[in-house]
Formats: sequence, structure tokens, C-alpha cells
Amino acid sequence: MDAHEPLNDIDRLKQENSELRARLADLETIIMRMPVPIAISEDAESTKIEVNPAFAALLGIDTDMNASLMGESAADLPFHVYRNGKRVAGREMPQQRASRTGREVHDELEIVRDDGVHYFIYGSAKPLFDEEGQVRRTFSAFVDVTERKRAEKALEESMQALHHANEELQQFAYAASHDLQEPLRSIGSYAQLLQRRYADDAEASEYAGFMVDGVARMSTLIHDLLVYSRVGSGALRRRPAALDNALQWGLLNLERSIREQNATVTYDTLPELIVDEGQISQLFQNLIGNSLKYRATLPPLIHVSADEAMDEWIITVRDNGIGVDPKFHQHIFGVFKRLHGREVPGTGMGLAICRRIVESHAGRIWVESDGKNGSAFRFALPK
Ligand code: ADP
Repeated sequence: MDAHEPLNDIDRLKQENSELRARLADLETIIMRMPVPIAISEDAESTKIEVNPAFAALLGIDTDMNASLMGESAADLPFHVYRNGKRVAGREMPQQRASRTGREVHDELEIVRDDGVHYFIYGSAKPLFDEEGQVRRTFSAFVDVTERKRAEKALEESMQALHHANEELQQFAYAASHDLQEPLRSIGSYAQLLQRRYADDAEASEYAGFMVDGVARMSTLIHDLLVYSRVGSGALRRRPAALDNALQWGLLNLERSIREQNATVTYDTLPELIVDEGQISQLFQNLIGNSLKYRATLPPLIHVSADEAMDEWIITVRDNGIGVDPKFHQHIFGVFKRLHGREVPGTGMGLAICRRIVESHAGRIWVESDGKNGSAFRFALPK
């Protein structure tokens, strides 16, 4: 045939046909070689399904076993399919659903093979239509999400274990500190009894006095430990609350001390936030109480201010006290951590309690001080 001679219709059709065949063959090769599990139905009802080698390998079947994977013979197949832990019947498979509904179906399935291997796959099944808009066949493509599911499950399990351990620890701390109070109270009573009984024996009553002091100290320690474990356990009673109010309550409990120290407490307008008001007033009480306790020679000047940031409020309690050496800025927020001896009463729990309160509100607390000119205890609470 002369290359310049126009093609007749039959020749043109022949050529188009062979081009189409070549394209189809290419497409088939691509599908067969794809590392992605792909399935194509041979019929509109999706009773006969052909899978590519990637899918066959995942299912543990031969590629030439293009059986009716979803039909009656499904029971004979060497794997079972689950959705959310429930066995999936043949007619509920993604392609079958796509056949019935004429819509794309997204699905996450677990394939459990008879040899014990199992996979999680995620993907979708799609109907293909004829010219009249009737479903002609369906196809599906999946990705193997087994690793992701495994990682998610492991993470969830360890989160649960952590949560459980944490809860047990809280309960333990609460029960221990609560149950310790009882015997301590009786030791205290008997020590006082001895003190009275041997009032005329100087040595005996001095020893009994040490016991009474020791018991009182231990009782305060246990009380603070109890507060600490209570703050961390149980649900927060959160509701919209004006922080000014919480501050007022805190100040009310410090009234006497403020007067005795000749202290001045001032404050700006504070925001309204969704918080556990009781806990926030405890927080203010602890911080302002410390500003009164760790005063310098000048009468205490304490100011509470609020700064609005993008998604949080930062509250500052600033004082003109003795300050905190920068090398102890982290340390002082620890349980039973204090920088002072018996000359200043305290258990070293106050700031640990503050930190717990703030953190249970998803906030942060820190101190700014050069160790000389007072300190600023600051906490940030989300809006
Ligand atoms: P406590 O007051 O019972 O010792 P806290 O946990 O409240 O326990 O405080 C820990 C330590 O931090 C205190 O011992 C003190 O040394 C230091 N501190 C706390 N608040 C202030 C403050 N406003 N100024 C200076 N030092 C402070």
C-alpha cells in the first residue's frame, strides 16, 4: 500500500482497532504491575471479580483464581473480610455495594487469611457505566494501611495503660494520705495527754512537746499531699468565672496575714475564663501567700495583672520580696521542694499544687526573677 494513498474505511477501522488493542494491553499491563491492590468485576452485579497480583498476594490466593470472590463460593476462599470487627457478607463487599447503589463506596476492611496473616486495607469501589447510565462493572483500589493501624492501636493501648497507671497512682496517693491522718490524730492526742500528765517533769514534757510538734508538722504535710492528690484527680468543675472573683476569695483567706504584714495588694481587671473557680482561688491564695511569706524588709507590695495573648491569658503575681535565684526556677515547683528551713513555715507543696492546678487547666506556670528584686509568678490559661 502506498503511504500517500488515502486509507479506506475498513483499513482505518482496522488501524484504530489495533491501536485500541495495544492501548488496552498497555492498560492491563499497568494494572497487573501496579503495587496497589486493584479488583475489577466482570459483571454488573460484581459477582465475578478479577484481582491483580498485588491484591492476590495480599489475599493469599493465586492470580488465576479469578473466582467469584464475593459470590456463593466466598465460604471456600482462604480468607475472611471484616469491617469494624464484624464479618462482612458477600453482598456487603465494597464492589457489590457500588453495583447496587451506583455510587462510589469508601471502605476500610480487615482481611484475615486462613494462614493467620491479616491486613487492614483502605480504599474505594467505583461503578463504571454504559451509555445508558447503567452499571456495567465495578472496580476497586486499596492501600495497605496495616502498619498505620498497628501503630494507632499500639499508641492507643499505651495511652490507656498510662491513663490507668496514672489513675491508680492518684487513688493510691489519695488513699494513703487520707488513711495516714487517722493514726496520726491518735498519736497526737496521746502525746498531748502525756504532756499534760508529766507537766511537772521538765524532760518528759519536753519530749512529749517534740512529739506534738512532729505530729503537727506531719499532719500539715499529709494535708498538703491530700490537697495535691485531690487537685489532680476527679473532674474539674469548669464554668465561666471572673478571675477577679477567684482572686477575692483567695484574698479573703489571707486577710489576717495581709494586715499583719502591712501589705498592699492591688490588681487590674482580670478576664473571665472557663475554669474551676475554687481551684483558681486556691492558686491565687498560694501565690499571694508566698509573696507575704517570702517578703523582704520593706512592707510587701503585691500586684496582680493580666495580659492577653493570641489564644491565652497570662496572669502575673508580682511582689517586692526576696526573689528566687534563677538556678532554682524549675526546682521550686517540685513536690516537697523548698529553699527555706524551719524558720519559714511551709511544706514545699504550695507551688507543686499551683502547677497541678494550672496544668489540669491545660496551662503553664513559671517564675521570673533575678533573685534580688522580687519575683513575678506567671501562669498562662487558654482562652
Ligand atoms: P513552701 O512555701 O511551703 O516552702 P512552695 O512550694 O510554696 O513551698 O514554695 C517553694 C519555695 O519557693 C519556697 O520554699 C521559697 O523558697 C520559694 N518561693 C515561693 N514563692 C516565693 C516568692 N514569692 N518569693 C521568693 N521565694 C519564693
